[in-house]
Amino acid sequence: MDCRKFESRIDGYLRNDLSADDQRKVDSHLETCAVCRETLAEHQALEAILDRAAEWTVDPPPFLTRKIVSNLPASVASGFWSWKVMHPIVAVVSLILALAIGFVGRDVIVGRQPVDVQRAQTIRIIFYSPEASSVALIGDFNDWGQRDVTLAQSSDRGIWEFSMTLKPGVYHYNMLVDGEKWVANPKSASLVPDGFGGYDSVLVVSEKCQDDCT
Ligand SMILES: [Zn+2]
Repeated sequence: MDCRKFESRIDGYLRNDLSADDQRKVDSHLETCAVCRETLAEHQALEAILDRAAEWTVDPPPFLTRKIVSNLPASVASGFWSWKVMHPIVAVVSLILALAIGFVGRDVIVGRQPVDVQRAQTIRIIFYSPEASSVALIGDFNDWGQRDVTLAQSSDRGIWEFSMTLKPGVYHYNMLVDGEKWVANPKSASLVPDGFGGYDSVLVVSEKCQDDCT
């Protein structure tokens, strides 16, 4: 067996489903070829990383993946989506890098704002949806659903009202209707693409904003 034949059988070898004959040929090639031993070790390490990655995704925090992907720079995002055509190790490294950029990017943005010297404002957001049985307000201000999620009480006429205290800044948010439908607020000052073919609502809290900042 030569190195190319070995490479075509690595996956079967790792899964233990080679024929006894192939298994023997692979074993004897490995005994004589340091390059292929190294290749095999790389694949085993990669499998271990992917196994752990699979564990991480068993219980992703709600909305985290969606938010990370929508925060990716366009060039990284396209790399992310075409990861299947890359070498698996490159794909894993890109994915980890993309996650890091998502988190670091947000820290930098938050860190740059002199939030301590700015006065918090009470914000009121009104959302109209007579068919909804629940509406939650989810956005930058509660880490896209990871904390302090507000469930509004509806009046009889389908008007859902949210009230919260925010420091001056620009916030992206959406309504989560009935726990599954993402809906932008049609009364939002502006809408930005969310990276999933939909839109995020934009809330601008200025220094002077007093009552109704929607
Ligand atoms: Zn070899």
